[in-house]
Amino acid sequence: MTENFEDIRSSVQALCAEFPGEYWRQLDAEKAYPTEFVKTMTEGGFLGVLIPEEYDGSGLGLSAATAILEEIHKSGCNAAACHAQMYTMGTVLRHGSVAQKSEYLPKIASGELRLQAFGVTEPTSGTDATRIKTTAAKDGDEYVVNGQKVWTSRVEHSDLMLLLARTSSRQENAKRHEGMSVFLIDIREAVGNGLTIRPIPTMINHATTEVFFDDLHIPASSLIGQEGKGFKYILDGMNAERILISSECIGDARWFIEKASNYARDRNVFGRAIAENQGVQFPIAKAYAASEAADLMVKKAAALFDAGEPCGAEANIAKMLAADASWQAADMCLQTHGGFGFAEEYDVERKFRETRLYQIAPISTNLILSYIAEHVLGLPRSY
Ligand SMILES: Cc1cc2nc3c(=O)[nH]c(=O)nc-3n(C[C@H](O)[C@H](O)[C@H](O)COP(=O)(O)OP(=O)(O)OC[C@H]3O[C@@H](n4cnc5c(N)ncnc54)[C@H](O)[C@@H]3O)c2cc1C
Repeated sequence: MTENFEDIRSSVQALCAEFPGEYWRQLDAEKAYPTEFVKTMTEGGFLGVLIPEEYDGSGLGLSAATAILEEIHKSGCNAAACHAQMYTMGTVLRHGSVAQKSEYLPKIASGELRLQAFGVTEPTSGTDATRIKTTAAKDGDEYVVNGQKVWTSRVEHSDLMLLLARTSSRQENAKRHEGMSVFLIDIREAVGNGLTIRPIPTMINHATTEVFFDDLHIPASSLIGQEGKGFKYILDGMNAERILISSECIGDARWFIEKASNYARDRNVFGRAIAENQGVQFPIAKAYAASEAADLMVKKAAALFDAGEPCGAEANIAKMLAADASWQAADMCLQTHGGFGFAEEYDVERKFRETRLYQIAPISTNLILSYIAEHVLGLPRSY
């Protein structure tokens, strides 16, 4: 927990300085993908840090990755367009065959292939992923996929998609999480041949979509690991995802706190800086304290993950505290700016909308509280 990755942080800061508020505002207005930003991060080698050196990645740990994402968000940028390129490959790395790893990981590390689409959520099952209805039926040396996913982000900017589908029904299995499998789908071959992508307009610029599978034929070699064990593989990756998203929340919180502090110092009302009022200072100080406390939990969770220790509780708590801290800081920053907080040119309203997402995705606050209640405190399962 002592390593702070100062070199990585300053390199990321330098690259992010090329993408100021105007860049993100323009994209937001056009609902466009930050292609140049993603290219810069890819070429800087920052999206391949979790891929081992034997597959041409940097072989760094999650703690280093959290430093990268925190700095991106602290700079006022948004990593949501590409963060999944960092961690979605974890399922292939941990559960893929030697052939799959050698074929895909070096190309993902270089950015030649983008694996940043992750299809789990469905419209009717919501958070209860064991009730997904998308099926993959074995047919000779192929699987045939039918169903629908929703909120499949970045799929239009991805070459590959990790898909969770049922290969046997819930009723056929003793446990509800059995009978689901993970597939690596080549989007380039699938679109127009059984895969249809439809963008979902949202309150933030997130490149998210719904996808429809209509007799999509994929090679049997697309299966990752063992058939029927896919849900466990997806769960394995969730701790990493939650810790990384927490670091984005910490970055957002730091951005809001700095922005609010600067504005409060400069804005004069009643003949003095508004920062001289404790009513303005205290919410900034509270947001700072909350973000520092949450950051400690993020660092603890990342350190446990990197040490190969169990970290489910810490990853969930970090995600909740960091998302709460960023939302508290967002609300404080908007309030500190008064009416100007609503003006797009300050970027506060954009970051405010963007950071609100983390109360809901990738996992909602209630479900984290249920996890803590059940798995940490031993209280009865509530759902
Ligand atoms: C912009 C965006 C991008 C996303 N990207 C992806 C992606 O790339 N891939 C992907 O697979 N998914 C993605 N998601 C989906 C996201 O993970 C889900 O939206 C999230 O997990 C919540 O699921 P849901 O929307 O179905 O809510 P629901 O499960 O319908 O829940 C609705 C509300 O009820 C509450 N609730 C539900 N059950 C309980 C319970 N038992 N106890 C207490 N409260 C409960 C929840 O906390 C929530 O507040 C994305 C979502 C968004 C908005």
